[in-house]
Amino acid sequence: MSSSIADEYEALLQFLYIAPIGLVQIQNDGEIVLVNPLCAQLLMPLSRDGALCNLFTALQDVAPDLGSRVKGFDADYGMICDNVQLHVGTGRSPSASPKVLSLSLLRLDSQRMMGVLSDITVSVQRERELRQSQAWIQTLVTGLTDYALLTLDAEGYCTEWNDGVRRVTGFESSDILGQSYRLFYPPEGTSEQRATERLREADLSGWSLDEGWRSRKNGTRYWGSCLVAPMQDTGAPSGEVRSYSLIIRDISDRQEARDAARRALSCDHLTGLANRRVLFEMAEVELQRWARYARPLSVVMIDADHFKQINDRHGHAAGDAVLRHLATGLAAGFGPMDTVARLGGEEFVVLMPGSDIAAAELAANSLCRSIQQQSVDVDGVCIRYTVSAGVVAMDPEVGDLDELLRRADAAMYAAKASGRNRVVRWDAIERPALALQTV
Ligand code: GH3
Ligand code: MG
Ligand code: MG
Repeated sequence: MSSSIADEYEALLQFLYIAPIGLVQIQNDGEIVLVNPLCAQLLMPLSRDGALCNLFTALQDVAPDLGSRVKGFDADYGMICDNVQLHVGTGRSPSASPKVLSLSLLRLDSQRMMGVLSDITVSVQRERELRQSQAWIQTLVTGLTDYALLTLDAEGYCTEWNDGVRRVTGFESSDILGQSYRLFYPPEGTSEQRATERLREADLSGWSLDEGWRSRKNGTRYWGSCLVAPMQDTGAPSGEVRSYSLIIRDISDRQEARDAARRALSCDHLTGLANRRVLFEMAEVELQRWARYARPLSVVMIDADHFKQINDRHGHAAGDAVLRHLATGLAAGFGPMDTVARLGGEEFVVLMPGSDIAAAELAANSLCRSIQQQSVDVDGVCIRYTVSAGVVAMDPEVGDLDELLRRADAAMYAAKASGRNRVVRWDAIERPALALQTV
């Protein structure tokens, strides 16, 4: 060997020695001729006797057929096995995940073979995790009944969808293709402009979510959520958004639960009218509006007459029936803009934005007459009752809601004092303060 060839050979051996993959040269019977440190490190735990003389022996437990494969390989040159996975148990700790080695064996000539061994545990694990994630995603995409998944193009037209779309919306593929995603909204629920705005919102914030009525193919409606998110095309110039994903969910159940909770918070449990909390909230809003705009605001306070006697005579349940009857009369007797609330017990308040005191008095009188003329049938017993009402209008002297309600209360008690079953206006009652002024 000339010195330059010898140098090259030496360099090659050096390279094989430090190569970042395991290399082993063997003879036909598996005897190891050359092995680099990495390969030795991988093989050593497999060797039963600790000696690393023969590859077939070293791999006996994980690749028992390696010797016969070599024997069966007829050609003088070529790949005997390519990236065969060898699952190596850790032996000591059962909880430790097993190692996975990859073995390729190449016949160099009739006498020699070169083996390449590498530890692929991490990549096998990653691949497994990836497959698992894909399986989960696939299950989500195809398996869940209340998710409709779609891909939209840049203008919001549907290009792809999953089976969930049919299940949630009833629309078939032939209905969806080439349609704007507005298809899933009722006509009054969106507009071309609004649909485009939502795509822009998704561009800017990464997503856009809205909840509301959605329509199915058969025209029925459901409460749904629509989430639009831009899909970044990695091949596209940065920032350019080509398509969007749209997820539609039928959340009617959730909406019903929310409605029930809202009703429970804002309604009086016995009569279904607004409760005190709603009355005070609405009154604050109306008082602010009254301060801003020259618009009348009146309040009627109503109290059932001798209600205690009704309870005493007919029982508490009958009293409740009377309260419900009165509530129905109140709801029917005032306008849609008025807030009819139960203040507590047999006392009710009506907030009348836009009504002056004369209009409020008229409505209260009409209620009084109507109640007087009716009777409540409780288990075959006819109960008749009457109500008294006080009426007041907001004016600049009234500082706050408390004062307004105090005046309504005073007028109502004046109605009681003057014989019940009647309506009295606050500005008509005799007040000590006014009497003092006139003296
Ligand atoms: P007045 O004409 O002066 O208003 O006399 P009244 O008997 O109606 O007034 P009072 O304040 O003496 O009695 C009100 C009664 O209303 C007493 C209370 O037991 C009854 N009450 C309060 N809340 C309820 C309720 O939710 N259901 C029933 N059945 N009774 C109630
Ligand atoms: Mg009463
Ligand atoms: Mg009372």
